[in-house]
Amino acid sequence: MKKPLMAGNWKMNKTVLEAIEFTKTLKNTISDIANVEVLICPAFTALYAVSNEIRGSNINLGSQNFFWESKGAFTGEISPVMIKDVGCSYVIIGHSERRQYFAETNEAVNKKIKAAFTVTLKPIVCVGETLKEREDNVTSKVIEKQIREGLFGLTLEQASSVVIAYEPVWAIGTGKTASPDQAQEIHHFIRKIYEQMYSKDISNKLRILYGGSVNSKNVSDLMNKPDIDGGLVGGASLEVESFTKLIRYFK
Ligand code: PEP
Repeated sequence: MKKPLMAGNWKMNKTVLEAIEFTKTLKNTISDIANVEVLICPAFTALYAVSNEIRGSNINLGSQNFFWESKGAFTGEISPVMIKDVGCSYVIIGHSERRQYFAETNEAVNKKIKAAFTVTLKPIVCVGETLKEREDNVTSKVIEKQIREGLFGLTLEQASSVVIAYEPVWAIGTGKTASPDQAQEIHHFIRKIYEQMYSKDISNKLRILYGGSVNSKNVSDLMNKPDIDGGLVGGASLEVESFTKLIRYFK
């Protein structure tokens, strides 16, 4: 059985003190949770403090990004080694905001996924279409390209530890959610691509998260779908109460 994953992407929010406060409270509110993997992805500045706070708890730590080189003259960048060193087990790669505002390409995503494996970080690879692409009926083409180019050259073992997050760009932070059927259709499609690229077994074990305005009202309809294995959550992960409701859905 795949363990569902509920991941919070805090984006560029929370000071160190706010992050500590959140984490202390979350630790208590979900201490009984064992059947869902819980992940929080704070800003770089709060990673160290949150890492200390989650020690011995059921909360995992992830980074929202990194650069693919392990060290050197790359002013302003953070390496996979540093992310691992600070206590992260996951890294989000290719979030649509990085693709949109920081010109991150499928090629860069590929380099980052491979870099994650050099330090045994588990990549959460984000894919998704823009509104225009959906209206132009090229959603599946876009997603297939993001996956095939992003994951190019991975070994079967590496492909087995990737998590994919399907995040329609038009649903992120907009309050618009893909309908459960729309999401299921794409999740199923992603699983089929994975089967073609790797194997049925690897594809069946792949965790595919849905992201895009997930909240306590729509979580149950989305997570009930057979190919949805958890969520990547922005806005609703910023308050302990709303994030806890999403985690507790699986209980
Ligand atoms: C995200 O940041 O990945 C996201 C899905 O954001 P939101 O839940 O706010 O739409």
